[in-house]
Amino acid sequence: MIVSSDQLNSRRPVPSDLMGTLTIEKKRTSKEDASKSTLLASPAHIWSSRISWTIAFYLFLLIALFQTLVLILNIDKVEQQKLAQVREIGRAAIAPVLSASVTDMLTSPASNEGVQRLLNNTIVRGMTIYNNQLDLIKSYGEPMALVLMDQNSLGKTFRTANGDSYEVVYRGGDLGRPYVVTAKLDSSKVADELNSFIRETIIVTFILSGLATSVLMIAIGKLLLEPILFMRENLMAASREPEDPKISPSPFDPRNEIGSAIAIAQKLIRQNADNIKRIKSAAEDKIHKLAYYDTLTGLPNRTSFLQTLSECLRAGTDNEIRRYAVVALDLDHFKDINDSMGHNVGDAILRGVGRRLRMALPDTATVSRTGEDEFAVTLPLNTDLNTARDVGARILNVIRNEPFKVFNEAFQVRASVGVATFPDDGVDPDQVLKNADIALNRAKEEGRDTIKEYSEDFDRVVQQRFQLLRDLRDALEQDQLTLHYQPQLDLKTGKIIGSEALIRWWKPDNSKQGGTYISPGEFIPVAEQSGLIVPIGEWVMREACKQARLWQTEHGMKDVRVAVNVSAAQFSQSDIVDFVRKTLKEVGLEARMLELEVTESVFMADINHTIQTLQNLHALGVELAIDDFGTGYSSLSYLRQFPIDRLKIDQSFIRNALNNQDDAAIARTIVRLAHSLSLKVIAEGVETREHELFLLEEGCDEVQGYRYSKPLPVADFVKFTTSYDGTLDSFDRKMARA
Ligand code: C2E
Ligand code: MG
Ligand code: MG
Repeated sequence: MIVSSDQLNSRRPVPSDLMGTLTIEKKRTSKEDASKSTLLASPAHIWSSRISWTIAFYLFLLIALFQTLVLILNIDKVEQQKLAQVREIGRAAIAPVLSASVTDMLTSPASNEGVQRLLNNTIVRGMTIYNNQLDLIKSYGEPMALVLMDQNSLGKTFRTANGDSYEVVYRGGDLGRPYVVTAKLDSSKVADELNSFIRETIIVTFILSGLATSVLMIAIGKLLLEPILFMRENLMAASREPEDPKISPSPFDPRNEIGSAIAIAQKLIRQNADNIKRIKSAAEDKIHKLAYYDTLTGLPNRTSFLQTLSECLRAGTDNEIRRYAVVALDLDHFKDINDSMGHNVGDAILRGVGRRLRMALPDTATVSRTGEDEFAVTLPLNTDLNTARDVGARILNVIRNEPFKVFNEAFQVRASVGVATFPDDGVDPDQVLKNADIALNRAKEEGRDTIKEYSEDFDRVVQQRFQLLRDLRDALEQDQLTLHYQPQLDLKTGKIIGSEALIRWWKPDNSKQGGTYISPGEFIPVAEQSGLIVPIGEWVMREACKQARLWQTEHGMKDVRVAVNVSAAQFSQSDIVDFVRKTLKEVGLEARMLELEVTESVFMADINHTIQTLQNLHALGVELAIDDFGTGYSSLSYLRQFPIDRLKIDQSFIRNALNNQDDAAIARTIVRLAHSLSLKVIAEGVETREHELFLLEEGCDEVQGYRYSKPLPVADFVKFTTSYDGTLDSFDRKMARA
């Protein structure tokens, strides 16, 4: 099967955890929508609608207020009408009682019987008769409050406070007689009538208000509530499923205000849904990119690579199994470029590597960035690229053949490459990539800038390492570890000035010898990789400090310093400053009696942290030495910044100094460099008198090596030191004796 770059870019399902809430539900059909949507205002809606009730309440109040006002304005008029009726009844009753036959203006025209009937049977309760000159002729019945004094009082009336009686004046014209009569009339009915008028008016008001309100409610329901409910339903649908709101076409005329508002709202809801869909789809694309692509190089990432790999590997048929190369690549010392030149340069180089790989390989290749400075490639093998090694070689060449140009500077980049082949080295994509990684680690271990093919032996090596780690853990618990001490001497005075503590592991077994000696060169790297170096290093430190203290107190070895090797991992994985401070205090050793040897690899880690740690250690008073100096590459530029006391020339230069000019020159340069920076310099691996003479000539300060002594168990070291006569020549004599 051939994988095209299009396929590589094609969408894969985004992992569900990444998608989270972004899952898009299946759309419903528009028919479903329509059937759900005819949700207009029913009577129940109207009567339960708060808005209807509020409007109705105010309307009711308004009508009631209006009616009350009308009532208040009318009530007086109605009362006057009623009183006018009473007056008229009184007039009609009185007029017949006044006899036309009496002409004497001083005699009463009413007969006593007539008046008596009048008072008994009509509303007239009292009556006073005056002649035209307003002279009082006669009074009948109940006394009256109204008394006529002159013409002005003819228009007066009087009504008692309780409204029971009403006193009026009838003139001659009213009665058809030449008299003026005042009458006290029973008006108690007027109040009753007035009350029932008010009652009726109120009832009518209520009925009217109720009717008007109902009509209005129905109108509101139709004209306002229905559209509002429809709009509310639309908005609710939009808030429930903003991305796919179930809204039906509006039945309301868009030419009126409410209908047009609904049309606008529906348009907004649809726009909103479209926007959400667009944003989601963009987010999905982005998530997909983030989940499957490396943002820096644009290449597929490890997840994507593994998927592609499994797709490729699955695609083969039983008849025709295609073979694939799987290549893992790691840029050598990329961290240095990043640390020293900055991330911009590092990033540009990574992008450049990605580009070069893509261009150098056929379209059928998948190139991916699988880690910070790691890339992986897979492609089907063919006649041109016949083996995984061919692919690895091509990759290695495109990286190192030409430097990378960044900001007009050329950077020579090298890489380590591990290759594995499907199906030869595994049929499971994870396994094949893992095997390519194992091969890559092998390439790195073997000095980098090289290709390694996966071999099953590697697996065995890995297994052995795991076993070693398990055994080492036990060794630490079961006190199988010891320290040997190798003397360090002042080259000019011949005095023993210190010792280096070197760890030893005697691993008991069932062999004839009862165990095997395992070299620190073998187990220290495993301990470093696993983090076990931290407890081991702490044990070493405590033990070495204890011994150095005992040398002073028990053996009179006043000025014999102890040097302890410290791994870079101890710097990054533990608070070494705190530990050293506590240990010195606990043991009672002066700080100047302890020296820490670090290799240049500590400078490859977080440089600021390293500077800070070294400064803190130095502040405690402990001495600091750079071990194996000259084998690293990064320290020179930093040397000045570090509070270092001593450079330790790597033993390889000493070993070869006598027969290799370059190594002699390096050793010489290190001595001068150290002195120019006011540092002491110690040479290790001094095995012969010739080595010693060379170092004496170059002005080296201190020495350590088999010429003087191998690393010794502590008792032997004490014996060696206390019996040493202080002259370097003694070692020649010893050799001669041997
Ligand atoms: P190193 O710190 O550079 O130690 C010097 C190594 O050179 C020691 O090897 C020592 O035995 C050996 N040596 C000393 N003089 C001579 C000589 O004249 N000729 C030759 N050929 N070799 C000489 P060793 O003890 O096997 O230790 C190897 C490395 O293991 C050490 O190198 C150090 O890096 C590491 N190591 C040893 N002990 C410890 C420890 O306690 N902690 C840590 N982190 N590393 C340790
Ligand atoms: Mg050392
Ligand atoms: Mg060394």
